[in-house]
Amino acid sequence: MPIPSGAIVAYFSMEICLEQAIPTYSGGLGVLAGDTLRAAADLEVPMIAVTLLHRKGYFTQTLDPDGQQHEAPVTWNPENVLKAEKARASVEIAGRRVEIRAFRYDVRGAGGHVVPVYLLDTNLEENSEWDRTLTDCLYGGDMHYRLCQEVVLGMGGAALLEAMGYADRAQYHINEGHAALLTLTLLEREMAGQAPRDITEADLERVRRRCIFTTHTPVPAGHDRFDVFETKSVLGDARWQMLVDARIIEDNTLNMTHLALRLSRYVNGVAMRHREISQGMFPDYPIDSITNGVHATTWTAQSFQELFDKRIPEWRRDNQYLRYAIDIPLEEILDAHAATKAALFTEVHHRTGVKLDPAVLTIGFARRATPYKRADLIFSDIKRLAAIAERSGRIQLLFGGKAHPRDEGGKTLIKQIFAAAASLPSSVHVVYIENYEMDIAHLMTAGVDLWLNNPTKPLEASGTSGMKAALNGVPSYSVLDGWWVEGCIDGVTGWSIGAARSDEGEEIADLYVKLERVILPLFYGLPFSWAKVMRNSIALNGSFFNTQRMVGQYVHNAYFPPKDQRTIPVAAAENAKEDVQSAWAGVQ
Ligand SMILES: *Cc1c(COP(=O)(O)O)cnc(C)c1O
Repeated sequence: MPIPSGAIVAYFSMEICLEQAIPTYSGGLGVLAGDTLRAAADLEVPMIAVTLLHRKGYFTQTLDPDGQQHEAPVTWNPENVLKAEKARASVEIAGRRVEIRAFRYDVRGAGGHVVPVYLLDTNLEENSEWDRTLTDCLYGGDMHYRLCQEVVLGMGGAALLEAMGYADRAQYHINEGHAALLTLTLLEREMAGQAPRDITEADLERVRRRCIFTTHTPVPAGHDRFDVFETKSVLGDARWQMLVDARIIEDNTLNMTHLALRLSRYVNGVAMRHREISQGMFPDYPIDSITNGVHATTWTAQSFQELFDKRIPEWRRDNQYLRYAIDIPLEEILDAHAATKAALFTEVHHRTGVKLDPAVLTIGFARRATPYKRADLIFSDIKRLAAIAERSGRIQLLFGGKAHPRDEGGKTLIKQIFAAAASLPSSVHVVYIENYEMDIAHLMTAGVDLWLNNPTKPLEASGTSGMKAALNGVPSYSVLDGWWVEGCIDGVTGWSIGAARSDEGEEIADLYVKLERVILPLFYGLPFSWAKVMRNSIALNGSFFNTQRMVGQYVHNAYFPPKDQRTIPVAAAENAKEDVQSAWAGVQ
C-alpha cells in the first residue's frame, strides 16, 4: 500500500517503553507502544510519537522476605540522555496557562529511518510549582492530577505538533483513552475563527477523518472517567459545554473511551476476542481488530538470533520468514534454548543467590501483579501441586511483576505467592524476581521452558509476553483469552488451560491435569517431541505475533486504507453481543 507523500501518523500514548534506562512505562501497554514504534521505524512508516516525560518514572520494586512490596522512586536525568526541542506550546488547565516543552528520543529502524518521540515536560520556571509536577509520575496522584496529565498529553501534545508544523498533514493514533483529549484540540481548531455556533455532525466528521483509536481495556472500570465537577474545574465551563453539545458527555461524566470512540474514524481492539468484548461494551460503534505483536529483533535472544541468521537470514527483513523455522533441526533449537536458560539462571543467581537446576522444568509467570491476572492460580491446591511434582517430575517456578502502589489486591497476591513458596516441598521450587522490567523480561521470556498465563477471562485484551516467549521457542500454557485464542493449537504450539467457556474451577482442574499427564511427561520423557512444540511456537506464532505484521495491518486498515474499503465490518457487532453477555456472566 503506497503511503501518500507528506502524510504523517502521530502516535499518542501515556506510556512508551523506549529502553531499560528510560523508566517511562509500567507494563504491557508501554512495551507495546515501544514495539510499535520500533517496527514503524524498521518499515519506514512516517510516524512521530508523543508521550509524557515521567521524570520520576515508574517505581523500583523491592520485596520483604514475606513478599511485602516497597516502592522507591526511580530518578533519571532526561537532560543527560535527551535533547530538549526548541518548539514550545501551552495549554490552559484550570484557568492557568501551562507551558510545555518536549525532549526528543529517536527510535532508529533497521535501515536507519527515524521515528522521533516527543516526551512532554512541564517542569519549566514559567509554571507554578504544582504544574511543574504534572509530567513527573506515571499513573500517580489522584483523579485531578490524572486529568491534568491527560490535558498535557492530549491537548498539549496536539498543540506542540501544531507548533512544529505537523498539524495539517497529521493523522492521530490514540493509543488507549488517556490521550483522547487531543480530539478536543482538533475540534476547537475546526471551530476557530468562526462566529459561535452549534457544533454539527460535519464538524465532528472533520475531526473523525483524522483520528484512529485503539482500545485496550475490556473492563468498564479500566476506562478513565471524570465527573462534571472535575472536568469543569480542569477544562472550564466552555469546553464542558462543547463536550455536551457534541453529545460526548453521558450521565454527567466525561469518559475518555467514549470521547475517542465518538471522534475516531477507525476503532480497533487488540485481538479477535477483544474486538468481540469491546463491541459488546460499545455497540454503537463498529470496532475492528488488529492483533498485537512484539518487536521480533528486540525480543529474540542472542542464541536464537544467531540460529535464525544462520537458517533463515531473511527473518530480520521480513518476520514472516520465521515460518520457515519449521525446518530448523530440533537439536539446534534445543541448543539455542539451553543457552537462554543458562543466561537466565546466571542472572537469577546474581540477583537472588538462588541456584536453579537447568535439568528441571522451569515455568515462568511475570507481568503486572494485579488480581485479574491470578498469579496464584497454580497454588489453588498446594498439596496437589506438590503431589504432581513428586509423581511426574520436579518443577521450578519463576515469578516477576510489580503491583501498582495503590493496587492492594496486587500486593496481597505477591505475598500469597511468597506464602505458597514457603509451604511447598523442594520438588516445587518457587523464586520471585524483584523489579520486573524490560531487561529481566527479556531473559525470563526466553529462558524458561514454559510460559504460564491465566487471567480471568475475558479481561486480558491481548497479552504480549507469551508472544515474546514464542519467538524464543518457549510454548505457552494459558487460558483461552486474549491472543492465545488465536495462537493456541493444543499440543502443537503449547497448551490451553480449560476450554473457551470454562469457569475458574474447571480451569484449575485442567491446569493440574494437563500439567501432570501431558506437560511433565512430555518434557521429561520425550525431549524431541517437546522440541517440536518449541519449533512450532516460532514457526506458527513467532511469524505472526510480531509488530512488523501488526504495523503493516495498521497501515493497510487504519492509516492508509484503499479508498473504497469499508474498513469496519459492522455485521460482526451483532454476533458479538451475545458472546459478550455470556462471557461477562462468567466473570461476575
Ligand atoms: C511484555 C511485558 C509486559 C506485558 O506482559 P503481559 O503478558 O502482556 O501482561 C509487562 N511488563 C514488561 C516489563 C514486559 O516486558
